Amino acid sequence: MTDIRHIAADSCNYTNFDAVIVGSGPSGSIVARTLAERGCHVAVLEYGGLVSPGAMLEPHQAAYSKALTSNGPADGNPWTACCVGGGMPFYNGITFRYRQADLSVSQYLATDMEINWPITLQDLEPYYSEIEHLLEVSGANGFLSYPASPRGLMLSNAMQELSIRSKSIPLAIRPPRTNKGCTNCSACDDLVCPTDARASVLARNILDDSPLPGTISVLYGCFVNRIEMRDDGRAEALECYVPLSSELIRIPVERVIVCANAIQSAALMLRSKSGHAPKGIGNESGLVGRGLSFKIKGYSVGYMEPADRGSGAFAPHWGPHATVYTDDFYEHNDVPCRFGGLIYEANFPSPDKNVGLVRLHYTAGEEPWSHNRVVLDEAVDQYGIPYIRFEYRNSENDRARINFLADRADDILRHLGAFRIEREPSSHGKGSGHLHGTMRAGCDPRTSVVDSCGRVHGFTNIHVMDGSVMNFAGSSNPTHTFMANARRMAMSVK
Ligand SMILES: Cc1cc2nc3c(=O)[nH]c(=O)nc-3n(C[C@H](O)[C@H](O)[C@H](O)COP(=O)(O)OP(=O)(O)OC[C@H]3O[C@@H](n4cnc5c(N)ncnc54)[C@H](O)[C@@H]3O)c2cc1C
Repeated sequence: MTDIRHIAADSCNYTNFDAVIVGSGPSGSIVARTLAERGCHVAVLEYGGLVSPGAMLEPHQAAYSKALTSNGPADGNPWTACCVGGGMPFYNGITFRYRQADLSVSQYLATDMEINWPITLQDLEPYYSEIEHLLEVSGANGFLSYPASPRGLMLSNAMQELSIRSKSIPLAIRPPRTNKGCTNCSACDDLVCPTDARASVLARNILDDSPLPGTISVLYGCFVNRIEMRDDGRAEALECYVPLSSELIRIPVERVIVCANAIQSAALMLRSKSGHAPKGIGNESGLVGRGLSFKIKGYSVGYMEPADRGSGAFAPHWGPHATVYTDDFYEHNDVPCRFGGLIYEANFPSPDKNVGLVRLHYTAGEEPWSHNRVVLDEAVDQYGIPYIRFEYRNSENDRARINFLADRADDILRHLGAFRIEREPSSHGKGSGHLHGTMRAGCDPRTSVVDSCGRVHGFTNIHVMDGSVMNFAGSSNPTHTFMANARRMAMSVK
C-alpha cells in the first residue's frame, strides 16, 4: 500500500530509493507508477498537503507563494495547484489527445525557438491508450460517452444549424448512472470531486503500489530547494525546506526526476547552481526558463431572453464543467496562420451562476518565444527562497488566432439567441493552469535542455518529465499528453 505521509512524520533514512521524483501531480505520479511497475522503489517529494473531498481551489491556492510578473508585483500564480496530486484533484477531467499538427507545428507557426517536438504522435499513442484505461476516459476504449448536459445539447443543436460539427468531450469522469458515476452534485469546476467519480492520482490507482513489484512513498510538506551535484556532474542529494519545522534537510538521490510544472521545474534548475553548473542545471545555453507557454484562451458569455430558444439556459447547471466541443477550427484555412484550436461549453463553477446564460471557452496553443520566460528575482520570500518572476507577452499572431475563435464562439451564442455577449478578459500574464515549454527537448544542447526522453543534456541522472519538455503547447487541454509523454519517458529510464 502506498505510503503517503507528511515528511515530518517520516523516520526513514532516505537511502533506499532508486529514484526521487519532485512533484506529485499527474506527471510525477505516472512516472512513479511506471517505475514501480518495473520494480523500482520510488519517493515522490511534494510541497503541498493532502486536499479534502469538496475542497475549493481558490482559498487553497492563496496559501502558497505568488510569483512576480512583468509589471513588478507578486500577483502571478506559479502553480496549477500545490497539493498531493498537483492540479489534477481540481481539474475538469477534459482528456483530449493531441494531433500530429501539435507536434510538428512549424508548418503553421514560426518563432525564434525550435517548435517541433522531437517525437511523433505515433510514439505517444500506446501511452494514450494506457492512460485512458487507467483514468476510465469516457468515449475511449469501450467506456461510455459522457452524455451532453442540457446546455451542451442546446450548443450542439446551434452548432449543427451553423454547419459546425459538435462532439462529445472525452472526460475522465464516470458518467451518471454508471458504477460509482457522477452524482451531479455541483457545477464541477475548481473543486475536488467529493465522490471520486472524476479521476485524480488518488481517485484512480495511479499512485497505488499494492499490485506492483516496486514501492511508492509520497512525502509531502517538503519544498525541494536545490539539486546538489558531485564534482563529476552527478546529482547526489536534494536540499529540501520543511516549513513545518523550519528545517533544511538533505535527501540523497540515485536519480532525480523533476515533474514540478513548467514554472517550478525551471526555477528549481535555476536555483541549483554549482561549480559544475554555474548558471543552473542544463542552462549552459541560457535556455532554462525560456519558451514559457500557456494556452491562449478566453471565454464568451451569452445572456439569453427567457422567451427564446435559450430558455433552457434558465435552469442552474449541475455536472461537469464541459460536455460538448467543436474542433472544426483546429486546422482551418480561415484561421490566421491556419492553426486555431477548440471551442467548448464552459459552465461557471457555481450551479446558480449559470442561470440565464450560456458560456463558451476557446483555447489554442500559443507561440513559444524566447523572451517569454521564468527567471529568479533577487528578492526572497519568507523562507529565503528567491521569488520566481515570469516575463510574458502574447504575439500578434496569437491575438489574431484567439480573436478568430472568439468570433466563432460569439456566432454560436448569437445563433442560440443571446441578446448580449460579453468576453471575459484574459489574464495570461499572471499565469495559467496549463504550463509548458521551459526546458525544451531535442538532440542539440545549443537549442534544447533535455533529450527526447527527458534526460538533461550532459547529466546522467537528472531528468525532467512534465510539460516543461513540450516544444509547442498544443491546442488541446494538456494533462492527457503530459501523462502519456511522462510514461513514455519513464519507460526509457535504465
Ligand atoms: C481548475 C483547473 C482545471 C483544469 N482542468 C483541466 C482539464 O480539464 N484538462 C486538462 O488537461 N488539464 C486541466 N488543468 C491543468 C492540469 O491541472 C495540469 O495540466 C496538470 O495538473 C499538470 O500536471 P503536472 O504533474 O505536470 O504538474 P502539477 O499538477 O502542477 O504538479 C506539480 C506538483 O509539484 C509540486 N511542486 C512544485 N515545485 C515543487 C518543489 N520545488 N518541491 C516540491 N514540490 C513541488 C506542486 O506542489 C505540484 O503538486 C486544469 C487546471 C486547473 C487549475
